[in-house]
Amino acid sequence: MQATSDKQQFVIVGGGTAGWMAACLLAHHWRDKVDVTLVESPEIGIIGVGEGSTPTLKRFFSDLGISESDWMPRCHATYKTNIRFVDWSPESGVDSYSHPFICQLDTFSERAFYLNCLTRRLGLDVETTPEKLLFNGWLANYQLAPVTPPHFPFNIEYGYHFDSGLLGQFLAEHAVQKLGVNHIQANVKAIMTEANGNIGRISCADHEDIHGDFFIDCTGFKSMLLQDTLGVPFHSFSNNLFNDSAVVFPTEVMNDLPVETRATALSAGWTWQIPLTHRTGNGYVYSSQYISSEDAENELRTHLGLGKEAEARHLTMRVGQVEKHWANNCIGLGLSQGFIEPLEATALHLVQTSVEIFMDEYEKGNFTAQQRDNYNATITERFERVRDYIVAHYKLNTRNDSDYWRDNRNNNNLSEPLLKLLDVWFRKGDLTQEIHRQNLASHFGTTSWHCLLAGYGTFPPLSNKQPGTGCQYAERELESFFAGCMLNFKTQKEALSSL
Ligand SMILES: Cc1cc2nc3c(=O)[nH]c(=O)nc-3n(C[C@H](O)[C@H](O)[C@H](O)COP(=O)(O)OP(=O)(O)OC[C@H]3O[C@@H](n4cnc5c(N)ncnc54)[C@H](O)[C@@H]3O)c2cc1C
Repeated sequence: MQATSDKQQFVIVGGGTAGWMAACLLAHHWRDKVDVTLVESPEIGIIGVGEGSTPTLKRFFSDLGISESDWMPRCHATYKTNIRFVDWSPESGVDSYSHPFICQLDTFSERAFYLNCLTRRLGLDVETTPEKLLFNGWLANYQLAPVTPPHFPFNIEYGYHFDSGLLGQFLAEHAVQKLGVNHIQANVKAIMTEANGNIGRISCADHEDIHGDFFIDCTGFKSMLLQDTLGVPFHSFSNNLFNDSAVVFPTEVMNDLPVETRATALSAGWTWQIPLTHRTGNGYVYSSQYISSEDAENELRTHLGLGKEAEARHLTMRVGQVEKHWANNCIGLGLSQGFIEPLEATALHLVQTSVEIFMDEYEKGNFTAQQRDNYNATITERFERVRDYIVAHYKLNTRNDSDYWRDNRNNNNLSEPLLKLLDVWFRKGDLTQEIHRQNLASHFGTTSWHCLLAGYGTFPPLSNKQPGTGCQYAERELESFFAGCMLNFKTQKEALSSL
């Protein structure tokens, strides 16, 4: 199939969430200068997991002009303000802690949070619980949706939970019907390169060849274009992220529809619990080095109180990233470019920001090597910073119930930036300054790092003498301030029903 228009031809291979997100963004922003074709196999399914987002997905929909009432009911979506980590650090006396999405109201409390963490590291007994010091933690505790009434003067950031299969279908419909994306269902058999190494066309079993100027690899873990055809190497993160498998069970819808994902530590990994309006998503992410798939399935059944009749789905994961996210005339997006396990639900966030950064760079200089290098350096760095934040969850655990947790704690394959950051924390130094000094906040900023370190209770024992002052939470009367703000919010169920 040769292009007939003068516009540049962009060909996306793969119709999972990554492919359709890319199709929507490219066709929406570059309608006048590119034709977008998406080809997907009618036989090879999508991965079909990935049900939690970060707040960037809110920007994605508003960028495309799609309202929550358009897409959320169709995808059985719920609001998400927080991730609650349960049983990750029992030895420090913490049963669970929150990592709320940071929002504008936190400008009143972030500084108090940092100061209290420093005071606590000096041995004084002050409030350091993230969900008390950050507003979305309050909403999560009271199961209130982050939707503000019109008069409310602050923005609340939030993410979503959704059915990933239905989200893909919704985006496909939008891309084809509203944005004119050309959708081809065919099995790609071979990718043809030209003398200069660029991809020229793709050959399908049941369709004529598809020519293009630029190609986007969204073929999932297969990475048919970027890794298989262009030979871009893959760098595994397995030396400090041990999990390589998952087992998934849906369960009944939850009565009270929480506004948070629960991440509960189990014997060789952790399980997510994601509340949707038609079911609850559950999955055990584990390391096959430490537990068999059968034992993992049984452990999750027991954890969920499920009988033998419930059907499990098993998945394997390749954790790491490609050496170059943009090679020749091709970028990889989604699982084909890399994957960091889903503990902080960052995958779709990385897809979206990759497309946004690609479009910025491409507009500056099309195919130039400088644009490619800038893009590759930025995306590689983002993957590394997300990796480090996830690795810290394992390094700091205080569980003693299995070799898995002990080996994670004793793992010393940490990156230099992470080592320096932890060193500053344990030496009672200024974490904010260190994050700025190393420029580490591309994804998880100072407040997220304080949530993790304080949430885990990584503090020295309390001093014998306690002056009883110095708690910024009390002195700044944050409790009554946040409690007053809370009066403006409805429950998740009420907010969803008004969509
Ligand atoms: C256990 C687990 C939990 C996750 N949880 C989260 C989460 O909470 N939040 C989050 O953001 N992300 C999560 N993710 C990641 C998320 O699922 C993916 O990033 C997302 O679904 C995008 O996948 P994809 O589109 O890259 O690949 P896929 O969904 O695998 O799609 C691949 C596409 O390529 C096509 N294809 C393959 N071969 C051919 C061929 N020969 N010819 C034509 N077409 C072909 C297929 O038909 C399919 O359309 C999770 C991942 C896993 C493994």
